[in-house]
Amino acid sequence: MSDIPYKIYLDESELPTQWYNVRADMKNKPAPLLNPGTGQPLTAEEMGGIFCEELVAQELDDDTAYIPIPAEIREYYKTYRPSPLVRAYNLEKRLGTPAKIYYKFEGNNTSGSHKLNSAIAQAYYAKKQGLKGVTTETGAGQWGTALSMACAYFDLDCKVYMVKVSYEQKPFRREVMRTYGASVTPSPSMETEVGRKILAEHPGTTGSLGCAISEAVEVAVTNPGYRYVLGSVLNQVLLHQSVVGLEAKTACDKFGIVPDVIIGCAGGGSNLGGLIAPFMGEKLRGERDYRIVAVEPASCPSFTRGKFAFDFCDTGKICPLAKMYTLGSGFIPSPNHAGGLRFHGMSPILSQLYYDGLMEAVAVEQTAVFQAAEEFARAEGILPAPESSHAIKVAMDEAMRCKETGEEKTILFGLTGTGYFDLVAYQSFNDGTMTDSIPTDEDLEKSFATLPVVPGT
Ligand SMILES: *Cc1c(COP(=O)(O)O)cnc(C)c1O
Repeated sequence: MSDIPYKIYLDESELPTQWYNVRADMKNKPAPLLNPGTGQPLTAEEMGGIFCEELVAQELDDDTAYIPIPAEIREYYKTYRPSPLVRAYNLEKRLGTPAKIYYKFEGNNTSGSHKLNSAIAQAYYAKKQGLKGVTTETGAGQWGTALSMACAYFDLDCKVYMVKVSYEQKPFRREVMRTYGASVTPSPSMETEVGRKILAEHPGTTGSLGCAISEAVEVAVTNPGYRYVLGSVLNQVLLHQSVVGLEAKTACDKFGIVPDVIIGCAGGGSNLGGLIAPFMGEKLRGERDYRIVAVEPASCPSFTRGKFAFDFCDTGKICPLAKMYTLGSGFIPSPNHAGGLRFHGMSPILSQLYYDGLMEAVAVEQTAVFQAAEEFARAEGILPAPESSHAIKVAMDEAMRCKETGEEKTILFGLTGTGYFDLVAYQSFNDGTMTDSIPTDEDLEKSFATLPVVPGT
């Protein structure tokens, strides 16, 4: 079909009214979260001390395929959704490829990424439960920004623990969060027991996501009226992000577009899990086949070099255990890694799908990622987030293979956000000082040694 527009915008009335829960169609369900003390699955009651009630129910629900999106959430979604599905005509022309390239663009909101989709849902349920506020961690800052926006909307207090290196490198992110009313603390901090312990053991550490998670969880469980919220990894977050895939699927169906390959970057797996959800559902039900590719940084290669094992989600080892592809909770990517996606683990849902051979994964080096980012920016005009650019890189590689073979494949990838706060990273790429750092097998063995021994697994 040649009459496919540059941008496919759905009507407001086509905004999904239900999230899709891919677990309902999975034969092998993701493993439950375990209590690290007992090695037993966490009960709803135990989880209720950390997470909001409704979110606990969503976390544990492996069976309900469609879960209604509350009207208050849809009302806020409507301020920036449905997001466009874009045909990358200009990129195709620039590459000279017969492939058809589409991307679902999630950067059209102030937080600059898809993370707002789950932040709104999580803040809504916290408010509905009558809580005072929520705590969280943020790495590059997108999640903290998204959550601070959502908390402002629902009038909730928001305490953000921001990985120290990002806090220092991205002062403007911090100010956006403060503008929406959040408090932002560099992590590790002296405010929490776990922060003080980590600082005593690793003086001068620039922090990690796993470490900021430990702090945020401690603050949530020790302050009445607070719960902890997480921007990725969890089943509930992938559920909320299914809005991305559902819209993409509706847009594809309207124009008779059938992707051959679907590509997404993977940090904790939420955007990829959301984008692929309805497509994976078709695949799981045997209705249609798609190639699905996760792209991760070579400096933090959870899928491609990690182990599928129960592990802590945080460095301080106070969080529940999740069965996932992990590099070990002690893993901290090299400080010169600039491209985000630095979490040591991966969504249990995606981990199970990958283990079952339902999707592929590839690791890419950051200089190649930034090169692809710039080529994309020059063709399509959007300044992409470094995270998103991992998907761009692999989509472009796929398109170039089509150029060699003459195949007219249809490629769909997730363009998760914009890179206006990542200009220090762009600067190091433009200055030619950016380097690639790939952990050695020895480095990984060291962090695998931090994996917990879980009886019976
Ligand atoms: C957080 C983030 C990601 C990675 O997180 P996932 O949970 O793996 O989706 C990707 N892109 C952008 C722009 C982000 O902010």
